[in-house]
Amino acid sequence: MDRIDFRSDTVTWPTPAMREAMASATVGDDVYGEDPTIGELEAVAAQKTGKEAALFVASGTMGNLVSILTHATRGEEVIVGRDSHVMLWEAGSISALGGMVPNTLPTDQYGRMSLQAVEDAIRPDNDHLPKTRLIHVENSYGSKYGYPISPDYFAGIQDIAGRHDLKVHLDGARVFNAAVAQNIDVREITQYADSLTFCLSKGLCAPVGSVICGSTEFIKGARRIRKAVGGGMRQAGILAAAGLVALEQMVDRLDIDHRNACLLAEGLAVIPGIEFDFDRVRTNMVFFNLTEDVPYQASDIAGKMREEANIWVGTTGPRSFRAVTHYWIEEADIELFLDVLSSIIGN
Ligand SMILES: *Cc1c(COP(=O)(O)O)cnc(C)c1O
Repeated sequence: MDRIDFRSDTVTWPTPAMREAMASATVGDDVYGEDPTIGELEAVAAQKTGKEAALFVASGTMGNLVSILTHATRGEEVIVGRDSHVMLWEAGSISALGGMVPNTLPTDQYGRMSLQAVEDAIRPDNDHLPKTRLIHVENSYGSKYGYPISPDYFAGIQDIAGRHDLKVHLDGARVFNAAVAQNIDVREITQYADSLTFCLSKGLCAPVGSVICGSTEFIKGARRIRKAVGGGMRQAGILAAAGLVALEQMVDRLDIDHRNACLLAEGLAVIPGIEFDFDRVRTNMVFFNLTEDVPYQASDIAGKMREEANIWVGTTGPRSFRAVTHYWIEEADIELFLDVLSSIIGN
């Protein structure tokens, strides 16, 4: 990349191995169930997450929507974190398209709803009330520094769901980051969810796609809903081929991105004018702020970094930034980032 792009891991280009796999992929009509490469991707995804079956979808947003629509219906309630991705960044889709009632709860500094609050939010059986159907969780938690939440929390969620006959859906857009950061198999997390989605198109570098995983029966229902929302794809094995490379080659190396995020955080910590909470940097994201005495706004600094060094950084407010590490960011890019930022702030 001539552009050094820290805005997100969604900006990642497919790797050379992906482009090769895409060029030679065997394809068929997937709406007829005849694309062998998609079939293989779904089998590998199910196996890796410890579920019976899987379904390839166009995006993480579609994966969450299709999953939630499969679990619940109009007028039913979903217990969900107030600052979760599905509440903030998916165009209100579960209400707009699904007619569902979100029962939003605050989350702690790591993105966890309190278990007591979840239990208290469940509606008693009463004709006046919406019927609670689903608990929606997320890992890693995007709004809280991409924090990797530990499996015991999800064990607690599953226990509540089991006692109240609810389902659990995990938005695992970056669940492989969450697993790698904790040095555990992803199944230690996914075992506590009835269904999950994960993204191939973020840190795993595929150009397109997410996968829904769950029971055979759940995936059968999800396939029908995917069709209803226009997500039936034809020779999309050409995309799934990149997804297979993502799952086979790109998961273990996420560790490098986490190390690079840590390097970035270490460098930021010694730049006067920058402040942030180091302990929360655990995956591939670093959120940081300008101290009051810095005479620039975040957008001014981001603009200068682009002009001076073709470094792109995300701004999350007038005084705050987000930098995300990924396959196309190397150690030398981190050093350049730190040099350019400190010289801009120092002037
Ligand atoms: C990116 C993301 C999604 C949505 O994925 P898209 O492919 O961008 O639609 C869902 N949840 C979380 C936590 C995400 O980070």
